[in-house]
Amino acid sequence: MSILIKNVLLGTAKTNILIEGKRFKAFGVPADTPAETVLEADGKAILPAFYNTHNHAAMSLLRGYADDMNLQSWLQDYIWPYEDTLTADDIERGSRLAVDEMIRSGSVFFNDMYFDIERTIDVVDKAGTRACIGITVMEMHSKAVEEQKRAFVEQWQDPTGGRIQLAIAPHAIYTVGTQKLISSAEWARKAGVKLHIHVSETAEEVRNCLKEHGTTPVRYLDSIGFLGPDVVAAHCVHLDEEEWDIMAERGVTVAHCPCSNMKLGSGRFPYELAIKSGARITLATDGCSSNNNLDLREEMKFAALLAKCTGDPTLLPAEMVFEWATRNGAEAFGIDAGVIAEGKVADCILVDLSDPRMTPNHHLVSNWVYAASSGCIRTVICDGKIVRN
Ligand SMILES: [Zn+2]
Repeated sequence: MSILIKNVLLGTAKTNILIEGKRFKAFGVPADTPAETVLEADGKAILPAFYNTHNHAAMSLLRGYADDMNLQSWLQDYIWPYEDTLTADDIERGSRLAVDEMIRSGSVFFNDMYFDIERTIDVVDKAGTRACIGITVMEMHSKAVEEQKRAFVEQWQDPTGGRIQLAIAPHAIYTVGTQKLISSAEWARKAGVKLHIHVSETAEEVRNCLKEHGTTPVRYLDSIGFLGPDVVAAHCVHLDEEEWDIMAERGVTVAHCPCSNMKLGSGRFPYELAIKSGARITLATDGCSSNNNLDLREEMKFAALLAKCTGDPTLLPAEMVFEWATRNGAEAFGIDAGVIAEGKVADCILVDLSDPRMTPNHHLVSNWVYAASSGCIRTVICDGKIVRN
């Protein structure tokens, strides 16, 4: 499989790019280089695709179902009762809707935490994109359910040849007890898969943790040996400076969800501390019911603007937040992509420069973060294959 992308804007210059197999083979090749597929991209720019690092894809079915309420009553009175009624067929439909929306908005990967995961895996396989599929762990799950899940992980073989990986996903410290958190970490490390968890999403979570464990969520998780470079921690809104240092030292990946945090009134991500700590920060939408879409470009803009609400307009420039959504996300999941460079895996999008929102083009990334919409995307390529054109 080969793709020749002709006359495409890369940075500030036009070039011809050859993709062979999964990877960018060469840049600046002659326009008549033979390829199975030729994309004429005059008037378009190439950008890396996006990696959505915290999601509950099938919750796209709950879009608009319960808005404008606080997290605990949103979860307990609306989301969990609704989820109890979902069938595996519903989850497949919800996942398909989510994956379609993500592709249209340039995301070729999502880190998921949900149920009936075989259905979601099948959807991703057929769509040609990527995912890390979390096996949700809750305290209330029976031993039989847990054994089933362990058997699934043991027998797991990626049907896509490298586009799907698994994670063990204990939901949060308020839904999973200490012993189960410890056994989840041991399980993930033995299986060689990631750990995915919600951390310090609300001030109430921190207060309850102080009451129950005498310390804050990050310190608590660190004290039980949970934190490490295999952990993806979603939200991390209420961390103090020392907790950020712990996250950086342990190599934890943080999935920052600005829209979800704003919509649920969870608080403002502490950008200054997070950036200063050097922890790996990535961007995510969270599920559709707390966003209410899966468009990672919107997260880039909201994050960049929310950072500036500190009164410092230099905090979180467009290039940095773009890197959170691209290179950092890919790196966190061991995907050799996230930048447009020879030898890298070809996950990319082509953006229409004739769209008014992309005109004039003083600064491509700045236009993308602050001005564009996902409607400017014309082509999406994942793993060297066109998934939308
Ligand atoms: Zn979540």
